[in-house]
Formats: sequence, C-alpha cells, structure tokens
Amino acid sequence: MDMKILDKGENKLRFVIEKANPAFANSLRRVLLSDIPKMAIEDVEFHLGPIRDQDGREYESISPLFDEILSHRLGLVPIPTDLDFFSFQDECECEGEGCPKCSIMYVLNKKGPCTVYSGDMEPVGDSSLKIKEDLIPLVKLSEGQAPLIYATAILGTGRTHAKWQVCHGVGYKYYPVIKIDGKKCDKGASCVRICPRDVLVEGDKKIEVAAPEACTLCMSCTEECEPGAITVKGDPTKFVLTFETDGSVSAQRALQYALDLLKEKAEGFREGISSLG
Ligand SMILES: [Zn+2]
Repeated sequence: MDMKILDKGENKLRFVIEKANPAFANSLRRVLLSDIPKMAIEDVEFHLGPIRDQDGREYESISPLFDEILSHRLGLVPIPTDLDFFSFQDECECEGEGCPKCSIMYVLNKKGPCTVYSGDMEPVGDSSLKIKEDLIPLVKLSEGQAPLIYATAILGTGRTHAKWQVCHGVGYKYYPVIKIDGKKCDKGASCVRICPRDVLVEGDKKIEVAAPEACTLCMSCTEECEPGAITVKGDPTKFVLTFETDGSVSAQRALQYALDLLKEKAEGFREGISSLG
C-alpha cells in the first residue's frame, strides 16, 4: 500500500493511500475515531468552605457555575498524552490504585474577579504535563470567589466517552479521476469558472486538471460542459483521508497508533483462526 502526504500539521493530516479498498479506509477511520487513547479528567474534587490568602483576605471556595458544569468543562480540556508512557488504570502495575503511570492530578485555584482558563490547571509534579491549549475559558469568577479544585485525569478511549476522543473530523473520499475529452470540449472554459474548488485550469489550447485532490465529486463541471466532454469518477482503490486531533496527541502519532492497533486486531483474529486446528 502506498501513501502520499498532501497536508501535514502538528494536529492535522491529509494524505492519499493507494492500492487499498473502502473496507480498509473505513476501518482506519473507525479506529481513529474511537480507539486512540488519551488522558482526560475523570474525577473532580471540590474543596468546600472558606480559603484565606497570605494577606489574610478571605475567599469562598465556590464558582458561579454548578460543580457538574465545571467538571464537564474540565473533562473536555485536551491533556498532553504520551502514548508510550501512560497505561490504562485497570492494566497498570499499581493495580488501579492510581500512580504517575496511569493518572495525572491537576490543581486549580484562582482568586476572583478573573476568568479561569485551561492554562490555570497546574499539574502536580511533572511540569511537562501543563495544558498546551491554555486559553480555553472555563469560568468567570466574581469578587470573593476562589474555587479550590483537585482534578484527576486517567487514560480512556472515545468508545467510552467523547472526552477521550483524540481524532475529530475523520473522513475519506475516493480519489477523483477526471478525464477531459478534447474533441467534445468547446474550450469555452465555463467548466473552469463553475468549479468551486479550482480543480481545472485553462491551458494554452486545452482545459487541464490542476488539482485533482481538491475535487469533491460535485459534478458541476460535467453538467456545465458539453455532454461527455468531462467525466469525473472516484477510484475505488485510492482514497484521500483527512483528520485532526484535539492536541492531546499529534496527528502523526495518532495515525501510527491506529495502524499498530489494526495490525494487532488482525493478528489476534489470525491466532483465533489458528487455534481452531
Ligand atoms: Zn498506576
């Protein structure tokens, strides 16, 4: 199977795979959506009662939001996840008690009036676990409010809850194959103008396909032109895949993990078949 990268960012990837089939492209899509693990806040502990700062000023450990709403917002904050380091709590050597290999604790303690952002969540211990997306607003505090919150993140997958979903906007399409019949083409170039994605360009003497990957198979050009002058089809062995991550895991790492997982699942299946004798 051959692969070509079309667009690569830290958190997004667009690429072409060749010599594949729709079943493989869809399997990859589903694994990316629901099986890549990440850390997300699972337990939130709210301190109750007054808090005094160094100057003797007294605050109440409350916020204007219900604790459940704030907990939900904390759960959706993308937490940097090293997939080679963290393990699921029920598979961890600590036997589920919670240790640095399967959990991260964050402390949140801002004093109002102010807006509390995701970057205000302070990891206990390793400072490399600081939230990268640090400007996600969580709550706006009033005078005298200073919630003291202890939040614990654990590893999970999107199969259990959307807060553990690493990849978003995961999709694929057949690779567009665009053919132009020079004999039927009237060279009016109206097909070039009607294409919403600028796939076609007007060459010296003929219409040319400049960016086939951009084609969405909308067929506007085939309808605009002389019948049969342009044919657009999807190649069922070649696909354009695209997805992005929430920033907790890089797009490249998520794709590597997804492919390893697919291989592991197939090998497990093969072993099952072998054991039939
Ligand atoms: Zn552990």
